[in-house]
Amino acid sequence: MVSHQILEWGKPLETREYPTPEPTGSQVLLKVDACGVCHSDLHIREGFFDMGGGQKRRLADQGVVLPLTPGHEPVGTVAAVGPDADGVREGDARVVWPWVGCRKCRACLRHEDIFCERGRYLGARVDGGFSDYMMIPDARYLLDYRGVDPPIAATYACAGITAYAALKRGLDGLKSGDVLLIIGAGGLGMSALQIVQAMTEATIVVADRDADKRALAERVAGVRTVDNTAPNAAEDLKRETGSVAATVDFVGAEATTTFGIDSLRRGGTHVIVGLFGGALTLPIPIYIYKLLRLQGSHVGTPQDLQELLDLRRAGSIAPPPISTRPMGEAELAMQDLEAGKVEGRTVLVN
Ligand SMILES: [Zn+2]
Ligand SMILES: [Zn+2]
Repeated sequence: MVSHQILEWGKPLETREYPTPEPTGSQVLLKVDACGVCHSDLHIREGFFDMGGGQKRRLADQGVVLPLTPGHEPVGTVAAVGPDADGVREGDARVVWPWVGCRKCRACLRHEDIFCERGRYLGARVDGGFSDYMMIPDARYLLDYRGVDPPIAATYACAGITAYAALKRGLDGLKSGDVLLIIGAGGLGMSALQIVQAMTEATIVVADRDADKRALAERVAGVRTVDNTAPNAAEDLKRETGSVAATVDFVGAEATTTFGIDSLRRGGTHVIVGLFGGALTLPIPIYIYKLLRLQGSHVGTPQDLQELLDLRRAGSIAPPPISTRPMGEAELAMQDLEAGKVEGRTVLVN
């Protein structure tokens, strides 16, 4: 087995060869066909996530040990199954849902891994898909992606379901005539924009401070846009739309959170999914007077991944822009991403 690994935090990936492992218990050995490269992979290679305000969340403090093979957006073919593995057979093509929990706590035993406090995310905490083989702890983390191109299915495991789950939370309880405001027309916001029109009849408005990004959102999705940094932007938006029922914030900075909350009608929901970071000062009574709901959203469930694959199969959502390159170029792909040379998503293929 050939894996592209982090041997030292902050250093380029190195390629190492190991004996291909044998699955035991409920494990499934997957031959990796493709694996997406994500912006998080850059943070994982650095060894920490910037939480804003000078705070760092170090992977070493989360029990991550090196060497680590990154890659949390893999698709592959089942190569071997452990004696207790159930639900897949050798030769099955599957996409990996990588947000695996500790598999021991109450949340994990309820199969609600996203609520686990000690996640063992594949490709982020334990070995992932920048390799020709990877081990999956249980077949329930593998989903059938037949009918969807492998590189597209790969990106759905992270960017796709992150956008999808946040939108679901925002759209929950929306009534006809309501407005959903998407904040941030960057990579994740644009993914969301491609998905949201298949999910709701609600009117979509997009906010971004960058005029080029607003123009792109208008062109691609035919939506109305606003500059959230304009004076009185929230007041104007409220007056013109009447009812912003939910905002989904793909930036997650203090300014965008404040803008989102200020734009909401009473009883509205503000969903934060962007990880810009920082801190928020908000008058507490505003929760009461506005009957406000503030909701965090992180990745999505296997069910979300299934639903997203179904939408794609039905032709309801356009594929995200993707370019592929050989798995052996994992480090080069990360360098290009870091240098801002990548448009859309890069997927490594074996
Ligand atoms: Zn990712
Ligand atoms: Zn757990």
